[in-house]
Amino acid sequence: MIKEIKVKTALSTSHLPGLDHALNPYRGCSHACIYCYAPSVIHWDKGKWGELVEVKINLPRILSKELRLKKKGVVGLGTVTDPYQPAEKKYELTRRCLELMLMHDLPVCIQTKSSLVLRDIDLLKEFSDIEVGITLTTLDDSLRQKMEPGASSIDERLRTLSELRENGIKTWVFLGPLMPHITDVEALVDAITVIKPGYVLVDRLRLKGGV
Ligand code: SF4
Repeated sequence: MIKEIKVKTALSTSHLPGLDHALNPYRGCSHACIYCYAPSVIHWDKGKWGELVEVKINLPRILSKELRLKKKGVVGLGTVTDPYQPAEKKYELTRRCLELMLMHDLPVCIQTKSSLVLRDIDLLKEFSDIEVGITLTTLDDSLRQKMEPGASSIDERLRTLSELRENGIKTWVFLGPLMPHITDVEALVDAITVIKPGYVLVDRLRLKGGV
């Protein structure tokens, strides 16, 4: 289910390594990953994670104001939601926010599990400092369907990484969460080696309440 909402703020302070601000165009995420810890971070109390996505329809207008006032810094796009989840096809909030950040030439770091990011290659190529991270947790797509049912397939993600790189966009891989007895780390590392991303971040499984 989709619900349009209005927000009062756009950028929030990020405590994640390498990021100054966080920007999340949606609240909720229909990728519905079973291990997602965003619900506990944003104190989600609106039912099963993945079933409701709140669309921040006035976000570009608020962001536009904030960009004139806030200190310049690296913006993490998609820290507690996926900025290229299916709702983005219709609402294009991520794209409109990117257009605004490009006007200020802000450094941006995107993280996604969706090939929809390829739609915005034209914009991404204009930034002087931007990178796109794609998450991989397994190479087994039947397992992926169980763990990350709404996200792009593994093949699509690998193709996305290659296509971004071919277009001169800096890429990285988020290898995680690594799941004991499930994640085939060696096979994943082999696949990543072929694609040659700029760097790889590895994360362990962090089980939060409700997962
Ligand atoms: S894509 Fe990210 S934010 Fe969305 S459900 Fe999966 S882990 Fe959570």
